[in-house]
Amino acid sequence: MDPLRRAQLSTTLVLLAAVVVHTQPTEIRVRAARVIDSTGQVIPNATVVVSGSTIKAIEPSGSSAADIDLGSSTLLPGMIDVHAHIGWHFGANGRFEPRAATPAQDAFYAAENAYLTLMAGFTTIQSPGQPDDVDLRDAIARGVLPGPRILTSIVQITPNGDAPAVLRQRVRELKDRRADVVKIFDSVVRGGVEQVMRREQFVALCGEAKAVGLRTMVHAQTSESVRTAVEAGCAQIEHGTGVDDSALKAMAERGVYFDPHVGVLWQNYRRNRNRFIGVGTYTEDTFASIDETMRINAAMIRKAVATPGLKLVMGSDAVAGAHGRNADELVERVRQGKQRPIDAIISATSRAAESLGLEKTIGRIAPGYQADIIAVEDDPTSDITALTRVTFVMREGRVYKRVERRRD
Ligand SMILES: [Zn+2]
Repeated sequence: MDPLRRAQLSTTLVLLAAVVVHTQPTEIRVRAARVIDSTGQVIPNATVVVSGSTIKAIEPSGSSAADIDLGSSTLLPGMIDVHAHIGWHFGANGRFEPRAATPAQDAFYAAENAYLTLMAGFTTIQSPGQPDDVDLRDAIARGVLPGPRILTSIVQITPNGDAPAVLRQRVRELKDRRADVVKIFDSVVRGGVEQVMRREQFVALCGEAKAVGLRTMVHAQTSESVRTAVEAGCAQIEHGTGVDDSALKAMAERGVYFDPHVGVLWQNYRRNRNRFIGVGTYTEDTFASIDETMRINAAMIRKAVATPGLKLVMGSDAVAGAHGRNADELVERVRQGKQRPIDAIISATSRAAESLGLEKTIGRIAPGYQADIIAVEDDPTSDITALTRVTFVMREGRVYKRVERRRD
């Protein structure tokens, strides 16, 4: 670039920076009809004071004017989705595309998904996981590209016949590659149920992860698989479609997080079946049993919600077509599973943060926490579908979305 052009560009950048500082003062007061702080407390008519990127205080409204008055809306912590495949997308022909024609296309699709996810009120997601996630995670963390904070497993470990020593080595390699979590792919339900991992493999993977300071999430569909993973010290179970009462109890007793998927994944496959069939391992057979799987899921989520002490966390398993609809998972857990709306909200905020080891920084509206704050129309504790009507999104103190309230 020639020097003159460079000088012009840097002047423009300085001016832009000045504008950003002007429109966003270092202290912002946001008022709403109620604030859910995500410990289960609902504070009526309150103002959240944000200083820089963190929350400074929650005050009763009226003491001084708010910079942003969100009327009859509800403020709550930015939601967290602990299981979203942020890179999955449909290609130019409208069909599922595991890999785009160029790496740049893959990157832009992932950035689009990240934008949709943030606009839907999700300020943090965990992806289980693909190698591109690392660059997207780091790009969003630089603070310019709008998207949720991302944690990723980078790859999924499917142990096959690997010896424990080999599996331990793979965990250490992921640590070196700056993975945030280890995703383990155990059983699959396809033409019947099978368990593919041995006990010593679980012990190697989850034990080594713990030793190097990484969490674990295990794709498990059967009760036996879940019990084995729990006994091996794994931290979180994904799916669990076919689990029985004893497996649910085992997770509750050991404090293992449970992330079932009943509201987004299968509904999305049903809506978009023709975009998936014929690509990769998706066949007519994959979709033949959707209704049956959804029936099993509905019964499972009712039992899970009713299991005392079971730590449910919000994960959508969002794939291509589902990004931005993540909150449907919470709506369906309440509708099908009879979960209390406030418990669903906690599962997507403070408890989800705890499952990520981030309980001291995100998932709550409290002094000292990151200013990840969203607003929804109306009151989600009485109507959970309010979570699908996000009107305001702030992440780390920056406002990314503000829409005027709908006039009824
Ligand atoms: Zn998944």
